[in-house]
Amino acid sequence: MNDAIRAQFPALSATVHGRPLVWLDSAATAHKPMAVLDAMNVAAATSYANVHRGVHELAVRATAAYEGARADVARFLGDVDVRDVVFTRGTTESLNLVARAWGDRHLRAGSRVLVGQMEHHSAIVPWQEAAKRAGAELVAIPFTADAVYDLERYAQLLEGGAAVVVVAHASNAFGTVHPVAKMAAMAHSVGAKVVVDGAQGAVHGPPRVAELGADFYALSGHKLYGPTGIGVLWARPDAWEETPPFLHGGEMIRSVRFSGTTYADRPARYEAGTPPILEAIGLGAAIRWLEGVGWNAIVAHETGLTAYLLDALDTVPGLTWIGRGAPRVPLASFVLDGIHPHDVGSVLDREGIAVRTGHHCAQPAMEAMGRVATTRASLGVTSVPGDVDALVAGLAVVRRRLG
Ligand code: PLP
Repeated sequence: MNDAIRAQFPALSATVHGRPLVWLDSAATAHKPMAVLDAMNVAAATSYANVHRGVHELAVRATAAYEGARADVARFLGDVDVRDVVFTRGTTESLNLVARAWGDRHLRAGSRVLVGQMEHHSAIVPWQEAAKRAGAELVAIPFTADAVYDLERYAQLLEGGAAVVVVAHASNAFGTVHPVAKMAAMAHSVGAKVVVDGAQGAVHGPPRVAELGADFYALSGHKLYGPTGIGVLWARPDAWEETPPFLHGGEMIRSVRFSGTTYADRPARYEAGTPPILEAIGLGAAIRWLEGVGWNAIVAHETGLTAYLLDALDTVPGLTWIGRGAPRVPLASFVLDGIHPHDVGSVLDREGIAVRTGHHCAQPAMEAMGRVATTRASLGVTSVPGDVDALVAGLAVVRRRLG
């Protein structure tokens, strides 16, 4: 399937340092198929206007395309109600929305906020700030050396009570998929809300958010083969009912008087100002493109290639692959004995190979693993076994030059 798919991604035919690009950084951001670029171009050229505001033809077309994208997202999330799907600028903004709006309304002095220790800074810092504002306590949920949450410790932490539990669907630092449904059921049994960071988990199969047990679920368009500047926050109706508006301004109101303002129903209530119209249309196109490829085929392809990557890494002398738990999304974090990950990344770059190096915006996760940084190779729908072979050959070059 992959030659035909790769041919649809113009960025993948780039050369870097005179070599063909090997893209192993899909977890940071994914390249875009022509279907997405075309959808945005066509919308800009033929159907562009501000949405929800005009009576003229272009406003009608733009609004239909924007709301069509919302319907695409609702289908992707497991046929949820479109009214529960709010467009944001990305996972970070979605998570800030929940921490600011829901958190500031519901956290009290002494409330406990349980956040996974493996999580991305976007899932930790907004809650750290919300906890500070409320006088609440931020508590880390520990994980094991396999990058799996320690459910016994988690159960003990819940016994002390929790207002909210924040956990990713899958770890961007190590690739493990967390037992969200189980963790959510445990959280709900003590009355806690569950916020799920789906930035990585949503990319490798449609997340059936309601079945996962999430109260809030956040994702970013750019990791899902869509554009930057667009993300999603889904919440259960009862969780939305408990969430006041986050940003205030045009579009999100019903009526404004100097004596007071009333707000529109959701989703408009949470989409103040002109939204990222073309970006939402691009995200809708990305979801339709993925559906066209077929999720079963994508999952089978990525599962096979992940096994190939992990087996290949195990053959590299002096390489330690970190956080080996299962199930996994298609990425691996590793270190080479005696060589700093940034140096690994720089030598690989000269070979045309793009990997991510550093703390992956998850410093507490790295610290708990006793590392400051790793090299991360991540795969996606466009990846092929040749990318993995190139990585292994590139790591041999790293060893020759720096080892
Ligand atoms: N959460 C996780 C698990 C991520 O991997 C990322 C991005 O790398 C984010 C949150 C933040 O996403 P964004 O930068 O698109 O807001």
